[in-house]
Amino acid sequence: MCQRRCVLAATVFFVVAVAVTVPAQQPGPPARPLPVTVIKAGRLIDPDTGTASANQVIIVEGERIKAVGAGLATPPGARVIDLSKMTVLPGLVDAHTHMTLTYKERPENNYYYLTYVMESTPLRAIQGASNAIQMLNSGFTVVRDVGNNALYADTALRQAIEQGWLPGPTVIPSGPMIGSTGGQYWPTPEMYKYHNIMYPEYIDANSPDEIVRAVRENMLFGARTIKLCVDCKPWGYSVDDIELAIREAAQGGCKVEAHVQTPEGAQRSIDAGVYIVAHGNPLSPEMHTQMAQKGIFLAGTDTPFTDYRGSEPAFKRTVGNLRDAWEKKVPLTFSTDMDYWNERMVDEKTGEWLTRGDLTLNFLQTWKAAGIPPADVLRAMTINGYKASDSIQERGPIKPGLYADIIAVPGDPLTEIDAVRNVQFVMKNGMVFKQDGVMTPAAFFHPGPVRMPSGRWTR
Ligand SMILES: [Zn+2]
Repeated sequence: MCQRRCVLAATVFFVVAVAVTVPAQQPGPPARPLPVTVIKAGRLIDPDTGTASANQVIIVEGERIKAVGAGLATPPGARVIDLSKMTVLPGLVDAHTHMTLTYKERPENNYYYLTYVMESTPLRAIQGASNAIQMLNSGFTVVRDVGNNALYADTALRQAIEQGWLPGPTVIPSGPMIGSTGGQYWPTPEMYKYHNIMYPEYIDANSPDEIVRAVRENMLFGARTIKLCVDCKPWGYSVDDIELAIREAAQGGCKVEAHVQTPEGAQRSIDAGVYIVAHGNPLSPEMHTQMAQKGIFLAGTDTPFTDYRGSEPAFKRTVGNLRDAWEKKVPLTFSTDMDYWNERMVDEKTGEWLTRGDLTLNFLQTWKAAGIPPADVLRAMTINGYKASDSIQERGPIKPGLYADIIAVPGDPLTEIDAVRNVQFVMKNGMVFKQDGVMTPAAFFHPGPVRMPSGRWTR
């Protein structure tokens, strides 16, 4: 018995030793010189200060920005991209969207329970891939993808883009929304008992132990932010519950977003000190003041009134709330909750379908109706979005060392924010995705992963 154990131990030691040492013995691929791209920008916007500088040069080496300034020399062999007639700016952020959910009038009658029943996780993951390309085409280089994404289709989408399988924004996924029993809707006893229909969409977590477990599960499966359904039920989360989730999420480097739909839930979320409050409707002017004092981001999901969505009274309320939040100096993000489609979503002039990117940008209508100055809207769409997505250390601002996520438009978004609807150039991770208004994504496609796999903890 002892002998067998010793043999077993020796075998385990040998296997482990081989596993540990083999990669070090294999020669890596020969180091290739990084491609260098020089972007000549007619104007370069710094959305943090709301200012622009003329005739700037951006040098991109590989995936990252190497230098920015006026009159920088072009390194030999560099590819030169002439955007001298354009305004260049960092990529845009949607701070609250759902890349792998699209509920429809037919066959679901806009009832998204039915989408969960009728569309598989793999189908929804592929929809997410298409939406990612559409969003990048409109200039969005970061999206917070917060729940209602089947069984971790959102974290898979992040990984696929990060590994280089397809072009898309950097996805900040939450995994399934965590809520007290029932999540955001009212399952039948059959659904609840057997957890086999809607349960990819929510994690039930009632007690403190269950909250800790749910937060850990989401982080284990790739979440980069934690989303709590604070008040989806009358038995919602207390301040203590929310604080517990915040502490647990912090252990894995995640911040917490609170979905709120009642004033009471909103107040508990603010009191607990969440990082982001999602949905502006239940917030009072007093709560805006508290959020500004605490520096809590607002993802208001400010739905416009269009031919295909919304109503005049709801729009008026939304505009009033957004305006008040801006006046109170709440850190605002551009956010949409875009997750639906119907057959009226066409361009009035051309009759063509609007893309997910076009539909996302239509939320600018609300910001314009609220009279928010273009520089502040642009800050919400960029700097505040990078901060709210906790990605500002890595990407966003156009400065040396950060990933090169760069877009360009004709016109001047600092005087007319609608200029960002006409994105002609998109670079993501140093690769050109769109030039002269046409998608040119060939460089993004590979028959295998070309970057290190995602994972906060390297596996
Ligand atoms: Zn949402």
